[in-house]
Amino acid sequence: MGAMKFSHTFIPTLREEPGDALIASHRLMFRAGMIRKLSNGLFAYLPLGLRSFRKVENIIREEMDAIGSLEIKPTVVVPGELWKESGRWDSMGEALLRVKNRLGADFVVSPTAEEAVTALVRDELSSYRRLPLSLYQINTKYRDEIRPRYGVMRSREFVMKDAYSFHTDEGSLDEHYQAQGRAYRRIFKRCGLTVIPVRADSGAMGGSGSEEFMVESEIGDNTLLLCRGCDYAANVEKAGCKGDDGPPSGGEAPPLEKIDTPDVKTIGELCAFLKTDAKNFIKTLIYRAVNVELDLSGAPGSETLVRTRAAPGAPESYGEVFFAAAIRGDLDVNEAKLAAALKASELSLASDTDVVRITGAPVGFAGPVGLSSVPVILDETVTGMKDAVTGALEKDVHYRHAVWGRDFTGWLTADIRTVKAGDRCPLCGGELYEKKGNELGHIFKLGYKYSSSMGVSYLDENGKSHIPIMGCYGIGLDRTLASVIEEHHDEAGIIWPVTVAPYHVIIIPIKYQGAVRDACDALAAELEGAGIEVLLDDRDERAGVKFNDADLMGIPWRVVAGDKNLSGGEPRVEIKRRSEKEARPVPLSGAAAELAEAVRSELRALNG
Ligand code: ATP
Ligand code: MG
Repeated sequence: MGAMKFSHTFIPTLREEPGDALIASHRLMFRAGMIRKLSNGLFAYLPLGLRSFRKVENIIREEMDAIGSLEIKPTVVVPGELWKESGRWDSMGEALLRVKNRLGADFVVSPTAEEAVTALVRDELSSYRRLPLSLYQINTKYRDEIRPRYGVMRSREFVMKDAYSFHTDEGSLDEHYQAQGRAYRRIFKRCGLTVIPVRADSGAMGGSGSEEFMVESEIGDNTLLLCRGCDYAANVEKAGCKGDDGPPSGGEAPPLEKIDTPDVKTIGELCAFLKTDAKNFIKTLIYRAVNVELDLSGAPGSETLVRTRAAPGAPESYGEVFFAAAIRGDLDVNEAKLAAALKASELSLASDTDVVRITGAPVGFAGPVGLSSVPVILDETVTGMKDAVTGALEKDVHYRHAVWGRDFTGWLTADIRTVKAGDRCPLCGGELYEKKGNELGHIFKLGYKYSSSMGVSYLDENGKSHIPIMGCYGIGLDRTLASVIEEHHDEAGIIWPVTVAPYHVIIIPIKYQGAVRDACDALAAELEGAGIEVLLDDRDERAGVKFNDADLMGIPWRVVAGDKNLSGGEPRVEIKRRSEKEARPVPLSGAAAELAEAVRSELRALNG
């Protein structure tokens, strides 16, 4: 077969930057001829890109196989029926690409595959003897992202490794969940990536039901909180913190009192007006939540609510519910934590019209005292407030001396605050700091959500029927590959870790002819014989052009062969590590053996 010759492959490198590329990986994948854009959020991989993509894919496959997960290949197009059964036909929103076939039947282009795999297992699972069962695929996903960006980091079509596991009990689920977590750590290490595993559950209890694998990134969509004192790390959507000192404790507050606060709207203005601190305010926001699974029987305003199921077996939920969320004035409500507390699939601030209808006052005068039209969710910081200022549900009026338990209570108390840098670690009390992160993978204990809504069961040894408990585990391949480039590049181009490099060695003849040509062919053949992947730049280009392309493509070792070095007493070639500045002359006779050993030893170091 011989080494791949540059002139025979299809690597359209470019000198110019693509106009729309904001980050290095997007720029470099495009310039190195790895990918091309077909349309917004749709990228094609060209031969060079696909080689690295396959390396990531194989690393993931090996690690999944090693923990006993079994590879399958479900379809990408899935009957809409299954998504109606799980309830996600409705709750998934616009990201779900729905299509109809010629008979008018609904289908989904898989954004993820809980439904498809659960349905597959439902039809086959009969006995406990088949459990635990872990299945995975490495397959195309489609999400109709509103704003695809940063190249393959957030595209519409991408490839995900997604695994789903089924167990008789929590212990077995936990065992596989831990094994997946270990496999993820190995996968990212092998790819040369520095990942930060973060809790995606609140973690104050120490339990872990969900972990995300993040890379630090300026363009990261996630805010991570990390502790200076211990290894606590959490997504802000879940991060908790130790309660701080809160309002000073004192004697009994005077009776609740209404005060006129004309033309005072913001908390800042109110603070100035009342000469007090935001910590003594209760900030109240009205939210609209969709598909709320929390049982609201008996809650204010619940008389008119109807609980329905999206499909037989799907969890019961309310289609649309309004809530008030109250929090100490110096803090912010975290919408992800609030949505989790409400078990809602979507949450947003209510419109001004809804606020007026619910509070009976213009926006800016909501408060928990006397609010009886909707359930009030109190942040933990509000319980215990003994002398607070809050909106009085009237234009230009506030209450002061509001006391929790005396003047108001909530319908539910939950931790819904946004934890910030400087807050205290929930585990050790140390100082928390923030980083921006990008999510590469996610492992998650699903519980019974899909197995129960979709009616999966198995028989135990006594012939009794049970529902299996599930976990799911995803990694985005494209995003992982792009993140490798983010972590390993310089001005000139990519600097691949050898495990994901498209080729291990690039051989550059100064001029591919005569003795140089013979030497390059022989070197390439010897390397290939030793299992080393070689690209031979046989193009009729200036040496400088070839050097620039080699740097751009990021191939770990470069060998340059020219007449001058080859024709001395001892023929030599020059070897250069992509990550180093200087090239080094080595005897041609030993070059292949030296390179092969260098490649192998680096592969061992990363894969080990
Ligand atoms: P994000 O919050 O970034 O949208 P997600 O939490 O929705 O991601 P999951 O459903 O957990 O993602 O999917 C598992 C993995 O799939 C992610 O960790 C990520 O690596 C990848 N992924 C998700 N959406 C995209 C996308 N639009 N483009 C590329 N990869 C993606
Ligand atoms: Mg996720």
